[in-house]
Amino acid sequence: MNEKPEKIVRSETEWRTLLTQEQYQVLREKGTERPFTGALTQNHETGNYHCAGCGALLFMSGAKFDSGCGWPSFMLPADSKAVEEHEDKTFGMRRVEVTCARCGGHLGHVFPDGPQPTGLRYCINSASLTFTRKKP
Ligand code: FE
Repeated sequence: MNEKPEKIVRSETEWRTLLTQEQYQVLREKGTERPFTGALTQNHETGNYHCAGCGALLFMSGAKFDSGCGWPSFMLPADSKAVEEHEDKTFGMRRVEVTCARCGGHLGHVFPDGPQPTGLRYCINSASLTFTRKKP
């Protein structure tokens, strides 16, 4: 991917129709699933993680690691242009929000406490992802 993905814009009504309630709360309302409850937190299979909102490839299993934080954690995105980062000062914290570059859906946050070589931890809600297992 050499250029930024084309944006997908949908109305709130369309998103409500397309997404489950949990996906809607996370992706469109910037919710956070409770830790250790997401379906993909403990997923160790080889494959790709796509945006649950628009299908864009966001993360790959090779970058996933066990952070112990309770959410799927990745050292880096599948492509630097697949996600966007935004300063987030809600809840009295300074965090960096991560969104899908294509549909704007909220994914989670990125923290500077990940393993080398990136030193980053993309802490991503399971509800904002769909997993596609790599065919053997
Ligand atoms: Fe998306």
